[in-house]
Amino acid sequence: MNILGFPRIGEKRELKKALESFWAKKSSEAELLDVAKKLRKLHWSYQKNLPFVVVNDFSLYDNMLDLSYMLGVIPERFNNLKGLELYFAMARGNGNNIACEMTKWFNTNYHFVVPEISKNLKYIINAEKITQEYNEAKTLGYSPKISLIGLFTYLGLAKISDNSNKEEIFPYLKKAYLELIQSLSNLNDEVIIEFHEPIFVKGYNSFFPHIKEVYDEIAGFGIKSIVSTYFEASNEATKILVKTKIDGLGLDFIYGENNLTSLKLIADAGKKLYAGLIDGRNIWVANLDSKLSILDRISLIVPKDLIYVGTSCSLLHVPFSKDSETKMDSEILSWLSFAREKIHELELLESLFRNGVTESNKEKYTKNQEINAIRKSSNKIHDANVQQRISSLRAQTRKEAFKDRIKLQRKELGYPNLATTTIGSFPQTPELRALRQKYKKGEIDTQSYENGIKDYIRDCIAFQEEIGLDVLVHGEPERNDMVEYFGEQMKGFVFSQNGWVQSYGSRCVKPPIIYGDVSRPNAMTVRWSSFAQSLSKKIVKGMLTGPVTILNWSFVRDDLPRNDVCKQLSLCIADEISDLQDAGIKIIQVDEAAFKEGYPLREENIREYETWALECFKISSSVANPSTQIHTHMCYSEFNDIIKTIEAMDADVISIETARSGNELLKIFKKVGYSNEVGPGVYDIHSPRIPSVDELYKQIQLLLEVLPNEQLWINPDCGLKTRKWEEVKPSLKNMIEAVKRIRADLIK
Ligand code: GLN
Ligand code: ZN
Repeated sequence: MNILGFPRIGEKRELKKALESFWAKKSSEAELLDVAKKLRKLHWSYQKNLPFVVVNDFSLYDNMLDLSYMLGVIPERFNNLKGLELYFAMARGNGNNIACEMTKWFNTNYHFVVPEISKNLKYIINAEKITQEYNEAKTLGYSPKISLIGLFTYLGLAKISDNSNKEEIFPYLKKAYLELIQSLSNLNDEVIIEFHEPIFVKGYNSFFPHIKEVYDEIAGFGIKSIVSTYFEASNEATKILVKTKIDGLGLDFIYGENNLTSLKLIADAGKKLYAGLIDGRNIWVANLDSKLSILDRISLIVPKDLIYVGTSCSLLHVPFSKDSETKMDSEILSWLSFAREKIHELELLESLFRNGVTESNKEKYTKNQEINAIRKSSNKIHDANVQQRISSLRAQTRKEAFKDRIKLQRKELGYPNLATTTIGSFPQTPELRALRQKYKKGEIDTQSYENGIKDYIRDCIAFQEEIGLDVLVHGEPERNDMVEYFGEQMKGFVFSQNGWVQSYGSRCVKPPIIYGDVSRPNAMTVRWSSFAQSLSKKIVKGMLTGPVTILNWSFVRDDLPRNDVCKQLSLCIADEISDLQDAGIKIIQVDEAAFKEGYPLREENIREYETWALECFKISSSVANPSTQIHTHMCYSEFNDIIKTIEAMDADVISIETARSGNELLKIFKKVGYSNEVGPGVYDIHSPRIPSVDELYKQIQLLLEVLPNEQLWINPDCGLKTRKWEEVKPSLKNMIEAVKRIRADLIK
């Protein structure tokens, strides 16, 4: 049995609290390290029935960062720091030194700290973290398996910070990495390391010719190594890995079914196979019968004694345990399996696979079969109305072409060129959060809550009118989160109380759970949008989260293809657009902040995703009348690879996150002859900095070098909810002032 890692944030997010208290200087380093040690001890105790406990899956911030630290891959700007101060400075910045970039770990919502590599790194090896955790586990009487990010994945995800290239850097990085591994070989007579190489699932890259030499050298240190890939199949790498001296391969049979085609290679080479069969990324009780049938298929080719059942990836991506869920519908709860429960499933699967049904596993096995049978036929999941609507659903497209729609819209809406607007949310103040929380806990009544929201909207509209924005928003004060807000109002969703998953550092998210057919019993946003519109003669944009983003930020049922679930969501959003339109809302924004998140890792699967994601967006947006203007917003700046899809989405206006790249990344819109309107963010809302009028003026001039003023909107680069009013007010005023100057220039 094998797991690739356990969530480290703690059942009650103890690590988050300890970190934040340490950062706020309310507790000492020793206190922080003590919490960390206790968490490791506890988390290993859950793994006591496994042959090994995982060591080095723990991290105070992130495992990629840990590896950078251990290899001495330290950006020059932090050279004068050391220890934890250095470690956290790389993660979070210090003084004027900006933090290392963070980006998503493959197609998950976990963010890692991107290594900055360059030619003149010193590579000072420091294996202390692993050594210490290894010895802790040994002292507690466990057999440890070290989990470590593989060299190829580390290199593949790193960014170059000078003018060299990865080929030049590779020999030095390799030497350092091997030195680190060699230093670990002294820990025990037989050290086992599981190398995480998810980069291999992306297919061949130019470093593949080095795989054999690196893993053979590691074997030469007397280390037993497992090389594991996940999130997709990795047949190209498997071909090479079976020829190396590694001990075994870990493959994902849930998201990488194609791995089944490599079984013969593995069997012929006599390698161990760590078969990822328990889903490490989703939260449903495993169907053990279907797992056993895959195992039957595998064992026709690979000898049974070389097969080890495992999770498909680290359990980092699922919540801790469902034990603390006290409010969820008990039937739905019985369908869920979080990290701790998954370890039990693994134990049961192992016992069934080795020994068949026995006295000791029979009861649990029957229970598992029962749960799966009940779930399959439960009327909580199946909604005939939804299914009927889906079955008669056809691809949709807006009735008139953009060039005709925009004429109508311009006439109806009367906004000027370089129209100014914002992305939707305004600051979420502590008072606002408190208001929502009190209401949720029942401490205040509906009336007081709604009065609070109304006051906020009034102030927000008044402010926007005062500074002279062209298209207003209501500010989203009623929303805690852009997906949760909608999920809570749709059928087919449940919310856990404690289902936290680490997003980055101390930050966690609690993804909604889509368990059944999705429908929208009532309008979700019409009330607040109409209220806001009633306060102003200017146009107030309605604000929705798009179907693809809702899907990509939720735990999605595994008994229906994702595209079908997405179609159901797209009907809900279509209905909402229709209701908003009927209520007199003339501009409606459908945010697709997470559109890119769902892109498959392998090139050959991208087309299929793009096709249905696009179709879903259009099912929603096509209910809009030609004169209703549809906006969308995406939290990305790089559109080069997806511009054709963006074009096909055919939103009347798209706002994007290009503020940090001048006008470079906008050029693609011009290059492909994109004709719909575009709002490239003119300043970065992720920083508290207030941009000056001059700076904004220059930024807009840069945009005008690329696109004509009739095609451009002027807005910040994302929602303002994380900012303070003291920052938002002057920034937006300056933005409007800059637009005035530009407009005056254009008349001259
Ligand atoms: N309308 C949302 C907001 O302004 C969009 C947020 C996002 O794209 N992440 O908050
Ligand atoms: Zn955004």
